[in-house]
Amino acid sequence: MSPSSVVLYIVSLLWLNLTDAKTGYFWHITDLHYDPYHNSPEFHRGCRHNRANNEHSHHNNRHRDHTCDSSWTLIQSAAALMAERHPDTLEFVLWTGDILSSSMEHASDRVKLEAVRNVTDILSRTFSSQFVFPALGHNDPPPSRKLVDMWMQWLPTEALQTFETGGYYTIEQSHSKLRIVVLNSVLWSGGATTSDNPHPHRGRTQWEWLEHILIKARRKKEMVYLVAHAGPGVEERHNAGSSTAAGGGELTPAANARLLHVIRAFSDVIAGQFYGHRHADTFRLIYSEGRPVSWALLAPSVTPRGAGSVSNPGLRLYKFESNTGKVLDYTQYYLDVTNTRGELHWSIEYNLTQYYGLREVSATSLNALAERIRNHHDRSSFAKYLSALRVKHSTDISDCDSACVHVHYCAITRADYSDFRSCVRNPASALASRAPHNSAAIFLYAILILIS
Ligand SMILES: [Zn+2]
Repeated sequence: MSPSSVVLYIVSLLWLNLTDAKTGYFWHITDLHYDPYHNSPEFHRGCRHNRANNEHSHHNNRHRDHTCDSSWTLIQSAAALMAERHPDTLEFVLWTGDILSSSMEHASDRVKLEAVRNVTDILSRTFSSQFVFPALGHNDPPPSRKLVDMWMQWLPTEALQTFETGGYYTIEQSHSKLRIVVLNSVLWSGGATTSDNPHPHRGRTQWEWLEHILIKARRKKEMVYLVAHAGPGVEERHNAGSSTAAGGGELTPAANARLLHVIRAFSDVIAGQFYGHRHADTFRLIYSEGRPVSWALLAPSVTPRGAGSVSNPGLRLYKFESNTGKVLDYTQYYLDVTNTRGELHWSIEYNLTQYYGLREVSATSLNALAERIRNHHDRSSFAKYLSALRVKHSTDISDCDSACVHVHYCAITRADYSDFRSCVRNPASALASRAPHNSAAIFLYAILILIS
């Protein structure tokens, strides 16, 4: 080896070392909706019991029932799958709320906390050497000393301070430039009957805190994951063209608009957004001056009980560059509830990049996917999207005409409530405004070939 090639060799080794991205993994689990009374004949509260009064032959379909929330058996099977598929480089777990079944709404605080403790215990046994980062959903108990005591095993002291007062916190990692920001979306959501924010003061404090954290992260050259139960954007299946999206845990119109503003302003710092709440596998894109600048990936629920339409239980394992936070891919696991005969068998539903043929996970690539999803001439991407949306639960795309496809497209690309409504009302203008150059060129080219 000549001296110059030795130097080149050393330089390239150093370069490789510096740029050697460390690959890590994290789970995203959401909307477990544990129902302690699932099988209970007592108090006439059990979901199955109530169902059995109305229908016969429910011997073997404890989990086939999409009108019931998660049984303990279902939660145990989810924990077992995660323990079995445990990668060596599992870094942490994101757990984005709605721990409890909505049927427990009127249960006492003691009963609710007991149920949260049971789920906490099974997660800490499953992830004995990882940290689990919980976010609160609208079906969860509010932040309290008792919750702090339960979760202090996972959260550092500074995080516990903001968690106890507002349910939000940030995690700074010593070994990487990735910062996790967990928001309490309940502080920004409307009540079930009103779009008024029931927590104006704490909601304001959370805004100030978030902006402060993002400014600091930019200064320190950190990348940030935004994590919350509910994220920005509409629920396409309920709110197609309707005037309100606030209520049932949705962000109020004002909070949604402000969050979008913050995301646009800090899109250079935000490496990803992770939400639950919709009980659907979907994504949202945020644009600035017509350019896609940020993405949000919404994981499906563990409960098979849908919020509008039913789905199968899902669990998601992300693959990422642990020093930069760059998301590389995810594997979506699911449990086919419909065909379950006693045994609960989880399997792989799909891998994100493979499934949709993405070169990378970015706002640009997901924007291209959104364009393919709404393509009227090739329904294959839409068929995949619809199947994933309901976690492989009996999907028939012939039920979804072009107007229906268009609503899905608007939901993905119009996170602003009023933009979404005008997109739904006016398919033609949406087509004109976002037609990507390359598909327009292909279309022109096809016409030229046809007329020549
Ligand atoms: Zn939920």
